[in-house]
Amino acid sequence: SDITDKYIAQKKIEESEERYLSMISNLPGFVYRCMNDKDWTMSFISDGCKGITGYAPEDFLNNTKLSYNDIIHPDFQQMCWDHIQECTAKREPFQHEFRIILPNGQSDHWVWEQGRGIFSESGQLLYLEGFTTDITQRKKAEEEIREKEVQYRNLANSGLALIWTSNTEKLCTFFNEPWLKYTGRTMEEEYGNGWTEGVHPDDYDHCLNTYVTAFDKREPFVMEYRMKHHSGEYRWILDMGTPNFNSNGEFVGFIGHCFDISERKHMEDDLIIAKERAEESDRLKSAFLANMSHEIRTPMNGILGFAEILKEPDLTGEEQQDYIEIIQNSGKRMLNIINDIIDISKIEAGLMKTEIMETNINEQINYMYTFFKPEVEAKGMKISFHTSLPSSEAIIKTDKEKLYAILTNLLKNAIKYSDEGSIDFGYILKSDNKRGELEFYVKDTGIGIPKERQEAIFERFIQADIEDKKARQGAGLGLTISKSYVEMLGGRIWVESEHSIGSTFYFTLPYNRILENVTELSAEQTLDKINRQEPAIKILIAEDDEVSGLLLKKALKMFGQSILNAQNGLEAVEICRSNPDIDLILMDIKMPIMNGYEATRVIRQFNKKVKIIAQTAYGLAGDQEIALAAGCNDYIAKPISKTDLLSIIHKYFKKNEVQR
Ligand code: ADP
Repeated sequence: SDITDKYIAQKKIEESEERYLSMISNLPGFVYRCMNDKDWTMSFISDGCKGITGYAPEDFLNNTKLSYNDIIHPDFQQMCWDHIQECTAKREPFQHEFRIILPNGQSDHWVWEQGRGIFSESGQLLYLEGFTTDITQRKKAEEEIREKEVQYRNLANSGLALIWTSNTEKLCTFFNEPWLKYTGRTMEEEYGNGWTEGVHPDDYDHCLNTYVTAFDKREPFVMEYRMKHHSGEYRWILDMGTPNFNSNGEFVGFIGHCFDISERKHMEDDLIIAKERAEESDRLKSAFLANMSHEIRTPMNGILGFAEILKEPDLTGEEQQDYIEIIQNSGKRMLNIINDIIDISKIEAGLMKTEIMETNINEQINYMYTFFKPEVEAKGMKISFHTSLPSSEAIIKTDKEKLYAILTNLLKNAIKYSDEGSIDFGYILKSDNKRGELEFYVKDTGIGIPKERQEAIFERFIQADIEDKKARQGAGLGLTISKSYVEMLGGRIWVESEHSIGSTFYFTLPYNRILENVTELSAEQTLDKINRQEPAIKILIAEDDEVSGLLLKKALKMFGQSILNAQNGLEAVEICRSNPDIDLILMDIKMPIMNGYEATRVIRQFNKKVKIIAQTAYGLAGDQEIALAAGCNDYIAKPISKTDLLSIIHKYFKKNEVQR
């Protein structure tokens, strides 16, 4: 029979099968079919399996060598079969990715599989058919991308920079961990516009404007603003943003990073303050110099000018007295300034010490009253004082000289800065706190001090109104010195004042009471008492300057039984040797041939008894210590006033102590 047709049809089928097989084997993967039996026996698998799994199709066919399940990495087997069962139950195709194990044991190859169940008409699962392809390269690329992302994330989180990104809608889409840690808020809270809640209200507009403007122009920006830190305080941050583009060059928003610059800001602020202070100090120094030069020149002018006039031959006795008084006053004024400058230098150098002794404050107040009364009355004003403790309770332990200086400064100012009215001063005991405190006050009805200057006047060189210093002399040091003294003695000083009404200066001292029975003496009585008590003593004045020597001689006349003079140290030693009965030597330090220290040392070798008082230049650091070390009993600051002499003689020569 003619089988040509059949043959041709057969041939066509074969050819078609061959074509499909060839197509299948050229696929980048393999197709398979396995039967739904106990072992999922492989009934077909295409050649491609060799390239992907390393096994030949024959190895799988009929599960000759291994089953399909055997090449699935154990970590994925359960997942794969669960998934297949789930999908086939729903009659849906399945697809998944898993790792396979190659014949050499290598297990880092990934495959992607898609398949479905083939069912009989009665709905029974007959086969699984699927297509599997190698995705190792894609997986590696994905892994690399993931790894890179982790690295970038770590990088973004590792530093101190606070990093953010925003999208094309200007809304923030990412904040790194340091940012979230810094603000103490969550990503959700900061997301979009949430972060702006942390911006300081005063910086809000500036911050938003800068951001929006830069965004619209697609330009980088740098700005500083305050941001709420998780501690609750606002801290300064520096925010730098730049437009962000994707790999296609499309604008995708902004990316920015910020740093906390609070420290820098504080340093800047401190620098600005320091600069202002330096400028202020410079201004003050210039004002001070101008003031000083005025303050020193004016009395010098008086001294030199009137000394010149005194030379004129036909002056009346009265005129001479007037001029001498002017010279004296100018001299005192100048000395005050010099003393103030030296005091302030000593205070600033930390060399000012206190000498605590028993002090009757009532006596001091009394003395001050007597002392200043004539001056106040000469201005047509009144002065009064109040002491709130009886004398027996008014003896305290303090530095008498410093208390004297403080009261003098305040009273002098009260007189200086008042043109009419009255001055009242004194103290009250404030015992409401445990220790008890004496509150001193000096009240005047003078020009007053504007509120804004009331603190500054206690600073050195500062006057309430520097411009208007003409009328009233002063270097602006008195209150600074007073303040330092008050503080050294454990107290405080302050002022209450009203412009054009008057001022009250207050200061406190601890009430360190000494119990003693005393009868109160006035200043005059005290002086009188000293004068009466002083015995006649034999004095040697060692002084090379004729004028100073003469001055001392005149001042000491009232005590000196006899007064001897030496022009230099050597002479002083000689005179002392030949007059062993000398009671007191006033030893100048700077003398020719042999200086005062040297002379004292030599005298001490043969006379330990004589009292030697060094005449030191006022307050020069070190002089006094050297004098005492050389063997002097005491020192007295030049220029020497009568009161100083009185107190030193009183100290060493009370009647019963003179042994001759
Ligand atoms: P000064 O030598 O200028 O008086 P002070 O340190 O004693 O220096 O005082 C500083 C400034 O305080 C004064 O220049 C003055 O402007 C102001 N002042 C001090 N005491 C008084 C006062 N009792 N009444 C008004 N102003 C005062």
